[in-house]
Amino acid sequence: MADVAESLERASNGGRLSLDEGVALYREASLHDLGAAAHRRRLQLYPGNEVSYVIDTTINYTNICDVHCSFCAFFRPEGHPEGYTMTHEQVLARVRYAVDQGATQIMIQGGVNPVLPLRYYVEMFAAVSREFPGADLHSLSTSEICGIAKREQMSVEDVLVTLRAAGLKSLPGAGAEILVERVRKRISARKIDDDRWIEVMRIAQRLGMPTTATMMFGSIESDDERVLHLDVIRRLQDETGGFTAFIPWYYVPFNTYLKGREASGLEYLRVLAISRLYLDNVAHLQSSWLTPGIKLGQLGLLYGCDDMGGTILEEKVVTLAGSRNTASRADLERAIRQAGFVPVIRDTYFKRRDYPLATTA
Ligand code: SF4
Repeated sequence: MADVAESLERASNGGRLSLDEGVALYREASLHDLGAAAHRRRLQLYPGNEVSYVIDTTINYTNICDVHCSFCAFFRPEGHPEGYTMTHEQVLARVRYAVDQGATQIMIQGGVNPVLPLRYYVEMFAAVSREFPGADLHSLSTSEICGIAKREQMSVEDVLVTLRAAGLKSLPGAGAEILVERVRKRISARKIDDDRWIEVMRIAQRLGMPTTATMMFGSIESDDERVLHLDVIRRLQDETGGFTAFIPWYYVPFNTYLKGREASGLEYLRVLAISRLYLDNVAHLQSSWLTPGIKLGQLGLLYGCDDMGGTILEEKVVTLAGSRNTASRADLERAIRQAGFVPVIRDTYFKRRDYPLATTA
């Protein structure tokens, strides 16, 4: 336990953990010690007592997908009666609703729909950018990008350059799940592999597009594999510096082929804390309310997080898997204040935006 105490002390002051030390901390440190060290580090990095959040929406423009991940309750195969693809007008109507609520971040994300051409995305992003120039298009997973590249027989780089010219500004880290081959083969065998996910992110970051990184934990991975995932992110960040934030969330098993159980609240807090300590080179750590609920999300602010994600005005993927949580701006701000912090609104790139609550709450 002496080693654990020394590792905690070092990491809480910004020192780097080795992979073995990270695994040992994750497994052996008490939750209180882990959380206290992560919180200490968070306060060193952000002494101003503020917690940020973004006003955003997630528009799931199509649920047709040919990847068939076993943990996903959202997708429908081609030809399924419940399959849908939104028209550009339908997408624009949703963006308009979100912008009217103050949204600046627009996440348009869906299945890997094999029939949609690059033109569909170019025209959609161009229309959103034209009509809503103040909105930041933070959209498409690495899997969707690769799906477009495959359909059009183009390189990922050419697809990204084309989409960026149409208005896509940054990529969310979706589709990472756990970046360990054994896990991906079991939960999403037809999805792009871990090396490909890293490669797409590397290309986007080299092109100057900011990205976030995510982790979906709690399916079939081991404790070691959770820390291995953090190690993959940390190594790419050492190389590119292109990740703005890390967002862990846990698998919701209801209505899925994979089934299983939800991670506990204690596991969620433990993952947040080890993420803050291990990812010494990623600036922001996000506590979420979408799967854990707002009370646990609030507690996450004392386990290393400096950000509370977004309002997510519309979302279907985890909702269909059984998550029933909702949160308004007022709910988020109340939760942040109750935890002893001052809520501030940010944009996708963690720049502060002013948007008084009274105008929309
Ligand atoms: S997680 Fe994404 S890629 Fe996998 S089946 Fe669902 S929509 Fe398709």
